Amino acid sequence: MEIKAIRGFNDILPDEIGKWQFVEKTAREVFEGFGFSEIRIPIAERTELFSRGIGEATDIVEKEMYTFADKSGNFLTLRPEATASMARAYLEHQLYSFDPVAKLYCIGPMFRYERPQKGRYRQFYQIDAEVFGVGNPVVDAEVILMLIHFLKRVGLEKLELQINSLGCRDCRPRYRDGLKAYLTEKSFQLCEDCRRRLQANPLRIFDCKVQTCQEAIADAPKVIDFICDECDVHFNRVKEYLGMADLDYILNPRMVRGLDYYTRTAFEVVSYDLGSQNAVTGGGRYDNLFQEIGGLDVPGIGFAIGMERLISLLPKDKEFIRHPDLFIAAPGKETHKEAYRLANQLHIEGIRAEFDYEGKSLKSQMRRADKLKARYVLILGEEELKKGRVVLRNMEDKSQEELPMDNLLNLLKSKIIHD
Ligand code: AMP
Repeated sequence: MEIKAIRGFNDILPDEIGKWQFVEKTAREVFEGFGFSEIRIPIAERTELFSRGIGEATDIVEKEMYTFADKSGNFLTLRPEATASMARAYLEHQLYSFDPVAKLYCIGPMFRYERPQKGRYRQFYQIDAEVFGVGNPVVDAEVILMLIHFLKRVGLEKLELQINSLGCRDCRPRYRDGLKAYLTEKSFQLCEDCRRRLQANPLRIFDCKVQTCQEAIADAPKVIDFICDECDVHFNRVKEYLGMADLDYILNPRMVRGLDYYTRTAFEVVSYDLGSQNAVTGGGRYDNLFQEIGGLDVPGIGFAIGMERLISLLPKDKEFIRHPDLFIAAPGKETHKEAYRLANQLHIEGIRAEFDYEGKSLKSQMRRADKLKARYVLILGEEELKKGRVVLRNMEDKSQEELPMDNLLNLLKSKIIHD
């Protein structure tokens, strides 16, 4: 029986990979420019890192983790997100001992046991950026600025930045109680999941898609009306710094984010690039996460971009597939050897050259050059080769010219690289 990939786990095929490489390359360039360094963290961690870090009463921890016991009976989980692992690495390797401020990014696969559907997978990719060790609101604005700059650099145009403040450990419990009291009155409208959430984590109800739950929370109290003076000052300063950078934003008092660890600033970026509304990325401040995972009191802020969604929003007119620079058409034994020799030299120069491995007819080689969308074709005919001359055909404008065999490599390099 033919073996297929697991449901929700995708192959990224060569005709798609150009987009992924472009997005990753741009992320590295932009983030490094903002002073961030890459960190690579393991795919699996001890389960308790996520259950304590993300929060027991979140959808991720309750239903979506890939958890299994290894042969020694230790419970491991395939990472559902990167922030908790990055925080663990910061503590474990005492990155703070060199400088308390760490600006880190990470690109890679995450795993969540969700119902696979378009845009929702069980293995999906995220680009994460985090700043550890700074509570000052200036860094909230800087992280958001970097995110928007990155999204524009990859070609997204119709972006909307939404922000909110979720309060802190001191003021959020008051809000939770207020929300709980309000929704208890309306519990008959709530779905079964939300009735449970009402006890464990009423903020989660904002994210529920069920119509009656959405109606129940439509006029619910807003977290922003409950935040303490310190959180209020912090949020006002974030807004001030965003204003200084001429960054437009809208306040979304209903945005609560899906994970427990967020405090104060929360943000999402919505794209209208494909007509409909798409949340491409979200993030926020999490000043309690480090303590939850048993570490020091370290503030943090960051975001995660869903790569599949971002890639689906890339401009449609941009070409991401790399076609051959040159196809060497060489019918005949002697010319075939010459094609092999020349292709090797071109490859070393970084020129994407192809030739026919099977020694087929000139017609069939030209058809293949066309199919592969080669920019140029170099025709090495037996007769021409004897005369020391070859023909270079520009496949775009169909013009042809004769080139001498001696110094051919340099001539091709100057044409193809400078074209
Ligand atoms: P989160 O870590 O839940 O805040 O998600 C951040 C981003 O990751 C979202 O905006 C999505 O674009 C993406 N994402 C989350 N879960 C999935 C999934 N199961 N499949 C594909 N993308 C996802």
